[in-house]
Amino acid sequence: MSEYQNVLDRQRIFFQDGTARELSFRIAQLKELKKLLTENEQKIIEAVYEDLKKPAFETFGTEIGLIIGEINYAVKNLADWVSPTKVPGSLVNFPSRNYILKEPYGSVLIISPWNYPVQLTLLPLVGAMAAGNTAVLKPSELTPHTSAVLAELIAQYFDPDYITVINGGVETSSALLDLRFDYIFFTGSTRVGKIIMQKAAVNLTPVTLELGGKSPCIVDETADLAISAKRIVWGKFVNAGQTCVAPDYLLVQEDIKEEFLRHLSASIEELYGEHPEESPDYTRIVNHDHFERLRSYLNNGTIVSGGDSNPETNFIAPTVLDNISWDDPVMQDEIFGPILPVLCYHDLLDAVTQVRKAPRPLALYVFTANDNTEKYILENISFGGGAINDTIAQLGNHHLSFGGVGSSGFGSYHGKASFDSFSHQKSIMKKDFFVDIPLRYAPYEGKIKWLKTIFR
Ligand code: NAD
Repeated sequence: MSEYQNVLDRQRIFFQDGTARELSFRIAQLKELKKLLTENEQKIIEAVYEDLKKPAFETFGTEIGLIIGEINYAVKNLADWVSPTKVPGSLVNFPSRNYILKEPYGSVLIISPWNYPVQLTLLPLVGAMAAGNTAVLKPSELTPHTSAVLAELIAQYFDPDYITVINGGVETSSALLDLRFDYIFFTGSTRVGKIIMQKAAVNLTPVTLELGGKSPCIVDETADLAISAKRIVWGKFVNAGQTCVAPDYLLVQEDIKEEFLRHLSASIEELYGEHPEESPDYTRIVNHDHFERLRSYLNNGTIVSGGDSNPETNFIAPTVLDNISWDDPVMQDEIFGPILPVLCYHDLLDAVTQVRKAPRPLALYVFTANDNTEKYILENISFGGGAINDTIAQLGNHHLSFGGVGSSGFGSYHGKASFDSFSHQKSIMKKDFFVDIPLRYAPYEGKIKWLKTIFR
């Protein structure tokens, strides 16, 4: 028996024992996860810094703090979430009581990427724990320091039969996917998402796929250009653009393009100074391969701002590219780095037609003071989720579920949606023995008119 099969078997025994399902256990363990985060905040911040040179402010704000917020919310609401939902009965089943139970799937596998290495591993875990599952976590091999710290801390705070981390690369991930988990939650690229789904299909394992894509950001002539530029620069260059919901490219109404480019350059300087390489607040590219991939885009179009890079430190400056067309390499795939191509549109139909050239994106942003523009974009473009007049900040609200559509994935999480994702909805109808209406039983002769009356 393989080592991983053994881990899963032990988790299955733990799950079947029923402990993970008890409400008091779930709440106690969620609080333990919060304790893990608060007692090891500095250690986590240092590990993420080693991997990505991410400033402490961002590691706290976009990783640790976000997870603590979700834990607090789950702990506060869990008793309500786990209680059966009563639903109305139907005439055909009169008299009966009807309700939906929230049942944990069992042993779940969570595979995560490197760009927010703590958050994207532990935020799904909050949902898995809240719903009463056991979990195997497979963090990314591209952030080795953070993945090692996650393994160490999870082993320190949790029984491995309940939650454990298995570190490794593609081979490890593939071996885990060969096992019969009860649910797979995957965050990563669309390319690997397809592999995950194929593997899951073998055992008919249900999956959530949180994938990526080219997320557009549309700016019309009614927007406040200075504020829009600042909010876009923030959302694009936080974590050096290595954010799944970062604006991938800009679509700017043609009459305001020149003015908007000036605002973008000014905002970059305001946030990261004249020399972003010297800014303590600017993250590096995760590794040399991604650095080279991104650097190859710097000769697309013309550079309006940035364009510098340093292979020694995997630094790529916050860069804005003008004179870009849909045929340029930078427009072929998700950029996932600090390079912002700017394209123009003539009218809204033109904007929508251009966005539809790429598969359905994970996020979309529109900057406008015009309600009709907002309505037109929301009604005519399919995307996972987004914001009006801001970028990426929608993730700070756990009342907004988060997930993709089409190529950007399916299923969603955050807040109550996380609990729902990791729970099977078990529908139950209950009857008693006092009444047994004979209509449904054969012989049917003379009964159809009553059946028709019920269904009408
Ligand atoms: P990736 O798909 O390369 O890797 C993600 C995970 O899958 C890693 O743990 C990796 O070990 C594993 N993996 C890689 N190849 C595999 C294979 N052939 N078989 C099985 N497992 C495999 O993604 P990445 O480069 O780590 O992350 C970047 C991508 O993730 C971007 O496309 C980004 O948009 C997306 N992303 C999406 C979200 C979201 O919430 N929707 C969040 C962050 C990142």
